[in-house]
Amino acid sequence: MSKTDLKGLSQNELEDLVRRMDEPRFRSAQIFSWIYGKRVDSFDEMTNLSKEFRERLAKSATIGQLALQASETSGKDSSTKYLFKLQDGLAVESVLMPEDGHATLCVSTQVGCAIDCKFCATGKMGLQRNLSAGEILDQVLRAEELSGQPVRNLVFMGMGEPFHNYDNLLKACEILTDESGPNLSSRKLVISTSGILPKILQYADEGHKYRLAISLNATTDEQRTALMPLNKKWPIAEVIRAVKYYTEKSNQRVTFEYVLLNSVNDSVDDARRLRKLVEGLRCKINLIPYNPAVGPYSRSPNERIQAFYEQLAGLKVPVMIRWSKGDDIAAGCGQLAVAEKGR
Ligand code: SF4
Repeated sequence: MSKTDLKGLSQNELEDLVRRMDEPRFRSAQIFSWIYGKRVDSFDEMTNLSKEFRERLAKSATIGQLALQASETSGKDSSTKYLFKLQDGLAVESVLMPEDGHATLCVSTQVGCAIDCKFCATGKMGLQRNLSAGEILDQVLRAEELSGQPVRNLVFMGMGEPFHNYDNLLKACEILTDESGPNLSSRKLVISTSGILPKILQYADEGHKYRLAISLNATTDEQRTALMPLNKKWPIAEVIRAVKYYTEKSNQRVTFEYVLLNSVNDSVDDARRLRKLVEGLRCKINLIPYNPAVGPYSRSPNERIQAFYEQLAGLKVPVMIRWSKGDDIAAGCGQLAVAEKGR
């Protein structure tokens, strides 16, 4: 019988587990605190549990940990890309971006991705599998341990479409924001979706506090479908309607991400259309100069980026140009991919 991985179990699931083992309910809080507070990785270290209970736990459960396979640090900006090996031999990447004594971590939610955005290296891998909640959140714990820096901000923009792994993603977020665990602030977690419409609506209805970002990347359906085939199913107007629903329901603003691809989606006309699309929405816009990854795409020259940005001036929403970190180590937006499948 395979052992239950305790890393990734919510407080409620841990309560069920200790009840089934005929232990009092408070044991689950103790175990939770050992795993996420004191960050131990063996039952022997849980010294406020009886030896007999620890032995029974060791027989039926484990505390999973991602194995570091490789890491690489950017010479330009000190961001570090970690390659973590999973139990089944597959691997995922996470990128740590330090700033002022703490760090932002770009987290993966799947091995590969089914969305197939034409400018993205992960999309080329296809989907291999979803990560478990434990595998998602352990990227944070491992990055903190390896770097010695507290991770304050999370962006779910690594490998995978987070809303294709909805339940595990939200369970990982719940544990990561638990006061007796890692205790991250909900508002410091950003979930970025390519626009999985039913999930945006569900997310709005469920009232989650984590911030939402939409990867838009184009202003006409023709253009967006060529870059992101899922646009055939959920075209731009529907995505904007869903975003409006979310912003009204949650009273939160959404971030639109727009990767600027030279002579593909970066004209002044594109900027004017983008302006029209977002006008009146509670949002902000991140313009992301492209990091060469796959396909025939290249980064827009600075003057095109500037001209695009200027067309958005005067909008009542914040507009930022976001230069990706770690682009010299293929850790920038759209560049994450594990080179050898099944490594
Ligand atoms: S950009 Fe995101 S959603 Fe699109 S293929 Fe890459 S990982 Fe998947």
